[in-house]
Amino acid sequence: MTLVAKKPYIIEYEKGDKYMRIGIDCDGVLRDFIPDLIEKIKVTNPEHADKILVPESWDWEQWLPFWSEDETEDYVFGTHYKELFGRDSTPIKEAVEDWGKLKEWAKENGHTLCLVSAQRENCKDITREFLDENGFDFDEYHFTHDKWSIDVDVLVDDSPSKLQKFKDRSVAYGIPICMKTTWNSELHDEMMSIDRLSDLIGRCFG
Ligand SMILES: [Mg+2]
Repeated sequence: MTLVAKKPYIIEYEKGDKYMRIGIDCDGVLRDFIPDLIEKIKVTNPEHADKILVPESWDWEQWLPFWSEDETEDYVFGTHYKELFGRDSTPIKEAVEDWGKLKEWAKENGHTLCLVSAQRENCKDITREFLDENGFDFDEYHFTHDKWSIDVDVLVDDSPSKLQKFKDRSVAYGIPICMKTTWNSELHDEMMSIDRLSDLIGRCFG
């Protein structure tokens, strides 16, 4: 099957031609990581509360200008990783609302839902706990930074660099789908973009 994405960004595929393998990212798509991080910083470091800017990129220093990259990395993936990536981290409300619908649609059409998430080693198991806790039951789970290496026909993600690499290198010649956020606005006109997971149904796969 060849997938073709063209404006206004409807993916053309013939029903029954082939079942789709749909890759879905975790942070920024299923998990509200950035707001959780902002809230956490306000609690632990109130002196920085009014210095947190709107995230417009993946560069920590752009929106957490009071810390160096290393300091933020330590804070996120060292000191506070359990709260930020564990069972009690916060799911995106719309993703929870849409999940049942997406699962049902995938099942009816024979599509496979694959988690494709680039977690650090110490965050993999607890991310799985977060997914289970919130009912995000995937058919397959892939933890890798090389998302392009996973055999999926589309990848729903919020990271501009991950989406771009997937577009350039996907082993399945897959199509990237951008989950709209404040930090990927440059992509909204450039590639297929969605506001929530249920947009995949009907809007992307018409
Ligand atoms: Mg992400």
